[in-house]
Amino acid sequence: MTTVYNFNAGPSPIPAPVLAKAKEEMFNFEQSGMAVMEMSHRSALYEKIHFHAIDQIRKVLHIPEEFEILFLQGGATLQFSMVPMNFLPEDKSAAYVLTGSWSEKAQKEASAIGKVETFASSKDNDYRYIPSVDLGGLPENTAYVHLTSNNTIFGTQWPDFPEKSHCPVIVDMSSDILSRNIPWENIDMVYAGAQKNAGMSGVTLVILRKSLLEKANSQLPPSLSYKQHADKQSLYNTPPTAAVYITGLVADWIDEQHGVEGMAQLAKEKADMIYNLIDESNGFYTGHASVPSRSMMNITFRLPSENLEKKFLQEAAAKGFVGLNGHRSVGGCRISNYNAVPVSHVKILKDFMIEFMNRHS
Ligand code: PMP
Repeated sequence: MTTVYNFNAGPSPIPAPVLAKAKEEMFNFEQSGMAVMEMSHRSALYEKIHFHAIDQIRKVLHIPEEFEILFLQGGATLQFSMVPMNFLPEDKSAAYVLTGSWSEKAQKEASAIGKVETFASSKDNDYRYIPSVDLGGLPENTAYVHLTSNNTIFGTQWPDFPEKSHCPVIVDMSSDILSRNIPWENIDMVYAGAQKNAGMSGVTLVILRKSLLEKANSQLPPSLSYKQHADKQSLYNTPPTAAVYITGLVADWIDEQHGVEGMAQLAKEKADMIYNLIDESNGFYTGHASVPSRSMMNITFRLPSENLEKKFLQEAAAKGFVGLNGHRSVGGCRISNYNAVPVSHVKILKDFMIEFMNRHS
């Protein structure tokens, strides 16, 4: 088998011990003679998987009891419209902080449902930085404010979450969930597709304050209502059972690796290796993100010319590095450094980057 160093932006690597456990267990779960994906979602066996995953997510993210944890489908993208459907009444407006393409998409989908405003944006400078915001300045009639904690395409990340607001704070954490602590006292809802740090595609984590649910639109079709999914413990209809199972295993693995605190430390150690190289490369590698807004999850950079970038990506691919192309909308290179990327792979990539630079500068 060829050795692969997987830096895909999503779907992305799953921890090796999780894959090993799934291989051993998934096709004959607890000696039941059934694979996880063959079991009824109404069976006691599946319920065990389902509630274990919810409990473990609660444990590793230190989620207080005032929050519901839902497993939904439709990706983070469906949340772009479910959020306003549930929480944007006609007489209010939703505030969006634009820090990249995904926040723009979230705002665009919301604008099909109701009134939206841009509260802050870093678009003027190619989304290189996270604008500083004071949520105290949000207008009174704001239904909620929406943030994107990590910008997968541009490689920026909110270093801290803003202080508490007088209106609900809703955060798309698709690309940094489970890699950092969440200050639940300042946040009302978080959502994330699982396929980067929380398992495989197919399940979307939605974590929301119970008191927020009480204010949700009660006229929605039940399948689009958070309240309905919460009342039915994410078993209103068939959940993506295999994906929920993998999320449970990933949460177990994080639990064994000193929790999200351990993940945060590891992410910094790995990201620092690459950022230090960028900073010491005399401009051979130039980072896209401004230094205070650098992401620990997605490291975006350019080389001195597009020709060299092409050569770099070709040589990297030949050596087994996967997923180093920047997003098709921005070009350049991107290293996605999610939880499951081993330190050793980042070291090998760094050595390749040094060797390539020495040959070409
Ligand atoms: N938000 C962010 C920050 C993302 O990175 C992505 C996917 N890369 C999405 C939303 C969309 O997620 P999905 O494909 O699960 O709909």
